[in-house]
Parts: sequence; structure tokens; C-alpha cells
Amino acid sequence: MSVSQLARSIKASPTLKLNETAAKLREKGEPVIHLGGGEPKSKSPLDAVLNCATQLNTGEIRYAPADGLPALKKAILRYTEEQYGQMLAPPNVIASSGAKQSIMTLLYAILEPKDEVVYPAPYWVSYPEMVKLAGGVPVAVVPEDGSFQPSVPDIADKVGSYTKAIILNSPNNPSGVMYSRDFVAEMVAFCEKKNLWLVMDDLYNRLVFDGKKAPNPYDFAKQQGDASRLVVVQGVSKMYAMTGFRIGWALANREVVEAMTNIQSHQTSGPVTVSQWAAIGALSGVQTPIESLRLTLENQRNVMLERLRTIPGVHVTKPNGTFYCFPDFSAYEKDSQKLAELLLERVRVVTVPGKEFGMDGHLRLSYCGTIKEIMDGIERIKWALDPQSPNELFLGDRKLVRDWA
Ligand code: PMP
Repeated sequence: MSVSQLARSIKASPTLKLNETAAKLREKGEPVIHLGGGEPKSKSPLDAVLNCATQLNTGEIRYAPADGLPALKKAILRYTEEQYGQMLAPPNVIASSGAKQSIMTLLYAILEPKDEVVYPAPYWVSYPEMVKLAGGVPVAVVPEDGSFQPSVPDIADKVGSYTKAIILNSPNNPSGVMYSRDFVAEMVAFCEKKNLWLVMDDLYNRLVFDGKKAPNPYDFAKQQGDASRLVVVQGVSKMYAMTGFRIGWALANREVVEAMTNIQSHQTSGPVTVSQWAAIGALSGVQTPIESLRLTLENQRNVMLERLRTIPGVHVTKPNGTFYCFPDFSAYEKDSQKLAELLLERVRVVTVPGKEFGMDGHLRLSYCGTIKEIMDGIERIKWALDPQSPNELFLGDRKLVRDWA
């Protein structure tokens, strides 16, 4: 007996797998530095923890409606009005178990078998697998010029009669690059003209550096209300460092939210009730944790960039946001899987191969750890790759001697 054809076509999430590998090595006492992580290290906001604890203390934790508690939807609507200047109503919101589930449920709700979903590379690792799970066909657009700024003509080139949706994620996981205002404006107009769903995965839109602000897709939308095919995906995971609570949401027209709610009601029911209360606490409480996380990450980005630039031949595009960067290591090794394995084996640094994001030759490095982890991690990478480095390196009290060219 074997698993289904669909199951065989789905890969494990490489980032979650790396977390396991790093944890196992650490358990064995190996001095691992994890530059592959996808979550900020700060604590959840106090307002989130307190609101959650209050609910927990009642001891009465019940099912919530499939689309989320009315109080959470209200908090999300207030947030949307504040941050996007967009007045929506409760039937336009669905809360899910993480933004991941919002995207997955949306794809189930809009795709017919073999419909295509187009997204620019580098892309978040889960898009292709999610599209396949929903019976669709993933179509990545690799920018002609090798840059991380997609172009409208490159995308338009891949759009055909089977295309149902376009997904944009900006600032982008893994590159950290934020798409330009003009690009977002043109994509909104393009999707409206072609009658395509436009999914804006805005999970990192508050973690933006250098005084910039993420473009607001609603600024350019002409189709409003039930005619709108714009879907904005958000969540508490990144901006409030609340990854473990698993609360995300989608904002969309009523018909699609209703379809998503029906699907979610058979999948997981509503998200975990106490997590929803935590999200309500975060959204309604003091907002300083976002700004302090943003500032910490900006500083950490600067340190990582400065260190990376000391490795000859490594090209890195300055991230405008998130907590990732996506340097090009092809001067050393074009096969990113091989390179990531080599770095883990030789110097115990965890990275994510660019291949997983649709661009080989690159590695995704996270700067959400401590400054020391960033500095030591890049020093180890440099030592492993740069033939000009000294012959020896100490990992704690373990001496490594270069026995490769
Ligand atoms: N979109 C992007 C681009 C992400 O990086 C992530 C998390 N890594 C998600 C969606 C899902 O986030 P969550 O399910 O934790 O809300």
C-alpha cells in the first residue's frame, strides 16, 4: 500500500525540517548557529499574553465560529482601517490558524482543477506546494535580469487562459526586498483588467526599514466591495513575534470569505480560541512591540550586511524589510543544497538553500537571532568558503582545521 499521488507530489517544508535538524544537533551538544530561522526572538506582547491568560483561567475554552470570534474580527477590522485606510465589514474577514491556512483555504475556494497560480521568484517555499494541494498548477516567474524586483511584463508573459490568481509577497521572504509602489499599482490594475485574483501576502509589511513604508494595495484598487478580487493576507506571527499562536487572516469579498469559511468549518473549525484572544490582545493593546522589533531587526540587518560584504565574491541585495536576506554564493558553489549541507557539516551553520525559493546559487540567511549569532555565523561561513581565511577556527573549545582547498 502506498500514499496517494498527491501526497507523493508534496515536499516537506524545508524550513520546518531544518529547525528539526538544528534542534537534534543542539541536543547532541553540537555548537549549531541557526541562520535558517523564520521567527523573531522577541517575546509576545504583554497584552497578548494577559488576554490569553485571562481566557485560559476561566477554564472554559470552547469552539469558536469557523471564521473567527466576532471580537477578533472587530479588532482586525479596526487594524485594517488604521493601517490600510480601508473600511471593511465582518463578512469580509476570515481568521485562520496562521496566514498559512488563510492562503491554503483561499486557494481551495478559488481554484478549479489545473488552474494556474503565478508568483514571482524568489518565492515563499509553501506557495508551490499549496497550489498543488488545491489541485492547481504553480507557475513561478524568474526575473529576466536576476534581480529580486519582478517586472509587470515578465509576469504578464506567464499569464494565460488558465491563470486564476497572482500571489505577491512584499517585503519578500526570502529576499527581504520590497516591491515598488509603481509595481504594486500596475499589478492591481493588471489583475482588475484581466479579472484575476490578486493575493497580497502582507505578512511582513510592518517590518520595513530605512524610513520606508510598504505600498498599500487598496490605494490603487478601483473595484470595491463584492466586485473586488483583491485578497490581503495578514497575521500576528511576524509583526508581534507570535508565531506559536497560529493566528492569521484574509480580507476579501463576501462570497469568497463565505466559501473559505465553509471549507475551514470542515478542516479545522475556527482557530484555537485562546490564541484568538491573544491576537485580540495584541491588536488592541500597546503597539510599541512592533516598532521595537522593527528597530532591532533593522540594526541586525545592518550587521549582517556589513559582515556578508567582507566575503569576497558574495553579492547581496540590501533587504528593505523582513528578517531575511538572500545572498548569491554562486561564485563558490552553484548548487545551493550542496552548499547548505557543506556549511552545516563543516561549520555547523544552518542556512536554507535558495533552490527551495526558486533561485539556486543563493542561500536564505535570517537575521532574527542575536547579533552574536549573526557575527559568528557569518565568520564561520567566511572561514569555510574563503581560501584566504586562516587555517584554523575555534568553535567554542573545538579547533577546526581546514582540510579542504
Ligand atoms: N507568508 C509568508 C511569506 C511567510 O513567510 C509565512 C511564514 N513563514 C507565512 C505566510 C505563514 O505565516 P503564519 O502561518 O505563521 O501566519
